[in-house]
Parts: sequence; C-alpha cells; structure tokens
Amino acid sequence: MARVVVIGAGYAGVMAANRLAAAGRSDVGVTVVNPRPDFVERVRLHEHAAGATHAVRPLSGLLHRDVRLRVATVETIAERSVRLDDGGALAFDHLLYAVGSTAAHDLPGAENAWHVADLDGAQALRTRLRQLPGGARVVVIGGGLTGIETSAEIAYHYPFLDVELVAPEVAAWLPDASRTRIARKLVDAGIVLRTGRRATAVHPDGVATDAGWLPSACTVWAGALAVPDLARRSGLPVAPDGRLRTDETLVCLGHPRIVGAGDAVAPPRHVAAHLRMSCQAAMPLGAHAADTVLALIRGERPVALSIGMVGQGISLGRRDGFAQATHRDDTPRRFTLSGRAAALVKERVCRFTLSSMRFPRAYRWRSGATPTVPAPTPTTVR
Ligand SMILES: Cc1cc2nc3c(=O)[nH]c(=O)nc-3n(C[C@H](O)[C@H](O)[C@H](O)COP(=O)(O)OP(=O)(O)OC[C@H]3O[C@@H](n4cnc5c(N)ncnc54)[C@H](O)[C@@H]3O)c2cc1C
Repeated sequence: MARVVVIGAGYAGVMAANRLAAAGRSDVGVTVVNPRPDFVERVRLHEHAAGATHAVRPLSGLLHRDVRLRVATVETIAERSVRLDDGGALAFDHLLYAVGSTAAHDLPGAENAWHVADLDGAQALRTRLRQLPGGARVVVIGGGLTGIETSAEIAYHYPFLDVELVAPEVAAWLPDASRTRIARKLVDAGIVLRTGRRATAVHPDGVATDAGWLPSACTVWAGALAVPDLARRSGLPVAPDGRLRTDETLVCLGHPRIVGAGDAVAPPRHVAAHLRMSCQAAMPLGAHAADTVLALIRGERPVALSIGMVGQGISLGRRDGFAQATHRDDTPRRFTLSGRAAALVKERVCRFTLSSMRFPRAYRWRSGATPTVPAPTPTTVR
C-alpha cells in the first residue's frame, strides 16, 4: 500500500486528495491532515466577514469517501513521516504539501487591523462590523482584489457605515479603462477612495499614511499574503518568501517523495511565473500534483506543469461585479464584463470550484504558455 499524506484541505489539497482517491487504485491510501473538519471557501471570506454568507462547509461532504481525514496541524515534516500537534505522527511514502497562505503582518501595527485572509480573521471582522454604530468609519487598506472586494462587500451590507479604501492605486495591474471602471463603481457604491497614498502604520484608532492621519473605528488590512513556515522549519528548500521550491513537475527539489501544490509552492519561473496565488491556480496545481504522485507510484516520470490563466472575476457587493479576461500568461485581454452579468459569472465560478472537487477525474484546465511579460509578485496579488 502506498501511503499518501496530504497536508492541508484547501482548494489544492482537496482536489489532489480526491483525484488520487478517484484513480481507483486499491494500493493507494490517502490521508488528509487539516486543522479543522471543515472546508473554508476562502474565495468567499470577504462575503463571510460582511455577513452575506457562511464560508464554511463540512469536509465530510466534499472529500472522496476513500480519503481519511485527520483533524490536526502538522508541526514538522521528517524524511518519511509528519509530526502532529496532537502528539501523533503519520508515516508516508509520498507527501503532498498544500498548506496555502494567510495574511502577511508586514505593516507596522497590523495586529490592530482586521483581515479576511483566513477564517478566524474573517470571523473576527464579522463580529466587529456588527458592533459598529451608524456613521462609524471603516478603512480598508489595499487596492488589490481583496481590498476592492472587501470594501465593496462591506459597503453593500452596511450602507450606514462610512467605508474608505486607502491605496496608492486601485487595481493597478489592469488596463486604464478597467481601472477607471472599477474605481467608478466603488465610488457609486458609496466608498471614499483615498488613492495616491500609502498606509505606513495601523493604530487602534486609525491609520497613519504618507499623506496624513485617517481616523478609523475598524481597519481592514487587505495587503500581501504570506505562507506558513512549515517547509522552512522542516529544513525543506524554500523561496525567499517561504514557498516550497519544486521542479516543473511539482516534486520538491532534492526530496523526491514530497510534492507541492497551491499558494505555498514555488515551481520554476518558466512554468509558473504567471501563476498568481489564487484558487484559479491552486485547483489545477492540486490536480497536477495528484497526477505527479500517481506517476511516481507507477514508477514513471511525471510530466511538466502546464497551466494557463483565464481571467479575473471581481465581485462588487452582491449585484455588481467586473471581469477581466486574460491571456494564458495572465496579461489582460480586451474582453471585459461588468455589472450584474459579471456578478453572476463570479458566483458561478465560486460554485464551479466545489463541483470540480467532487468530480476530480473529469476536471480539466487551460494549458499554459510561456509568460511574455514579468508577472506580478505572487505574494502581493491574488
Ligand atoms: C477574501 C479572499 C477572496 C479570494 N478570492 C479569490 C478569487 O475570486 N479567485 C481566486 O482565484 N482566488 C481567490 N482568493 C485566493 C484563494 O482563496 C487562495 O489562493 C486559495 O485558497 C489557495 O488554495 P490552497 O489550497 O493553496 O490554500 P488554502 O485554501 O489556504 O488551504 C490551505 C489549507 O491548509 C491548512 N493548513 C495550513 N497549515 C497546515 C498545517 N501545518 N497542517 C495541516 N493543515 C494546514 C489550512 O488550514 C487550509 O485548510 C481569495 C482569497 C481571499 C482571502
């Protein structure tokens, strides 16, 4: 029996575990280790924070029936086993590293801010928003996708709060026309845009910026993401930001029994420079990682990664949105969609991720292309 241990039941880990189990090999046993018995729909955490939805569902309804779930946190990875925080250990023949990402606390005073990068953060913000009196000011820091979606979601569900967005620019990576469109929609939603300035520190009662002080009853940090330090702590090869370094088949460099997927891995640039930290990339990475593990079990040479991006779907509250089609290398195409239609597309995509995990062998993705322009830094753009 080949024992496969998957660390992390997020988009990459669940897709990988289910695809392995659905391969129907009686000589492969799959165990997933995750700190909670639930799947967290991270792509809905801004909705969760604003009280629009509950972004948590039992893993029992999502994992393949032959996958075993161990509710625990992996503390360290050794040569052929992982040590768990409940005092236990699991031996493996193949390990799939899919620990995802969370908020980077790299802004001074970030502990004074709320965030939506993980469930605990989103839950705390949900509680805080419900306590705020009418007219209270909420300052969202960050002009990336998370900052845009979070400020719009809060403004939609809490029209009696004053929502402000602070960032040097909003959607800086998009073409001018798309940027202008999104900014106009945010303003129409009642959000005050404080662009052209950078937050320098968060205090309990406000935000210091390079253009002055902004009082705030609730500050939301929607800046960079960071990865857990499990790989680094375990002595595995990591990129400077802590992501596990792999070859182009997702096998960890120098550790042929370890395969990585999702936000927490750094495959070589020639196959992955264009892959943002995103669910859009994590799902095919998880599927590819499963195929790599199966090839290793069969004693075959795994194939190189090939993933093309499709677009960026942005929800702006529940009734509005914006979608930017992209080339395979994630550079923008001319096609965009806006308004209710874009909101519907985004909602469909969120649902599609769950159904894809339930039918993992049928899951297909767009093939990749060599990037033609430098990609955004994966830790700063989702
Ligand atoms: C508010 C928000 C909105 C987003 N919207 C979009 C979007 O519209 N489109 C898009 O493509 N992407 C979006 N993203 C990004 C997307 O959610 C992530 O890129 C995606 O979740 C990465 O998947 P993953 O499987 O790598 O990691 P995750 O989904 O983060 O899962 C990792 C899992 O590993 C577990 N874990 C961590 N450490 C350990 C350990 N030591 N032991 C055991 N388990 C561990 C975690 O608890 C978690 O369950 C959004 C993110 C946020 C925060």
